Amino acid sequence: MSLFLPKSGGRFDPSLLGNEIRITHKFGTVNDSSRPVPEEEFQQWSMRFTQLIQQHWEGKYSFRRQNQTVVPKFIQIFEDDEKKMSDAHFVIRVRDGKGGNELVSSKPAQMFEDLKEKGMYFPMASTLAAGSVLPTDSSGLIGDTLWKWIPFYVDTFGGVMKPQTKAHVASIARQVAGAQAGLTVYVTGYGNYKTSSINEVSTVLRASGLLNVQTRTSKKFLNPGNWGKSSQSRASGRTDYVKISIKDDINVSTLKTTPVYTYPAAVVHEFGHMLGLKDEYACLSEKSANQLVKLDFIDASEKNLYLNNPGTRTETPEVQEEQKQFIKYCRKAGVEPTVFGKYTTSIMSAGSEFRPCHFVTIWAALVHLSGFDDWTIV
Ligand SMILES: [Zn+2]
Repeated sequence: MSLFLPKSGGRFDPSLLGNEIRITHKFGTVNDSSRPVPEEEFQQWSMRFTQLIQQHWEGKYSFRRQNQTVVPKFIQIFEDDEKKMSDAHFVIRVRDGKGGNELVSSKPAQMFEDLKEKGMYFPMASTLAAGSVLPTDSSGLIGDTLWKWIPFYVDTFGGVMKPQTKAHVASIARQVAGAQAGLTVYVTGYGNYKTSSINEVSTVLRASGLLNVQTRTSKKFLNPGNWGKSSQSRASGRTDYVKISIKDDINVSTLKTTPVYTYPAAVVHEFGHMLGLKDEYACLSEKSANQLVKLDFIDASEKNLYLNNPGTRTETPEVQEEQKQFIKYCRKAGVEPTVFGKYTTSIMSAGSEFRPCHFVTIWAALVHLSGFDDWTIV
């Protein structure tokens, strides 16, 4: 097996064959000895894995350059003979039971720990469950989070949102629209550029599927208590901002039956880690936030809005660095990075929505193989 190591983590073997980029993984599979999967089910498990990856990862995005379009195709080779696993990308230990505690690690698989000590190539460790190939329900996580988004305060700069903020607003809108497209959403503008700010924000909301977006400008000057003061964003303290609010509660009862609000199966998400993608429900690290500022995805004054989401996981230094590298790939590939620190409908958070940013590590492999860096993800 050959090897491509994205700077954001994961590993795979890419090859470019005409208009196809083949992403091959070799997996050693081990039936867990303390919680073994019945043999027949263990054999079917890898087939189910392959079906799910094809069904969900293929046909979503491709890569275009001049007149050429390259389509990603995913191939998995499974090896259950331990003597033939030392060149695998990952060794997956499959244990009986439900999903929910899956692991895709950058550490060596247990049986190959000695290879690391000798400074040699080693397969990485992964633990998945028999239930990881079955449908899941993570809609509750997304539903609970939806409430906390709103009211949402958006900073604008000369009437314009920074790219990451724009992506954030679009993400909220897609999630609300998926639950209730007709919900009345108010967009209120404040500050010197309120008319252009309102236009900018409401255009994104409508383009993301919300059907009933109403715009208004602040009437705060009518309140004698506010005379002579400019209104300030409750999130950032800035005076040029937009508030997104709603009149009625969001009806989240439909989320459970709307596929985008849950993983198709846990392995579809775990496979993203094997491609070098990070958990998006985990916090954005300080390092990554600084990178967002440096690449002008956000303004320096917005940094704190993207950090420290209560109740969400803080990553290890290694993963923080990989998160930063992921953001750099996004800039190079010309796509928005995703929203971190919240349960969203994104496949790398808690749903089944694929975004162009989920293909940046394959983009990096394509750049490496083709010698051209002007591919776009379409
Ligand atoms: Zn994960």
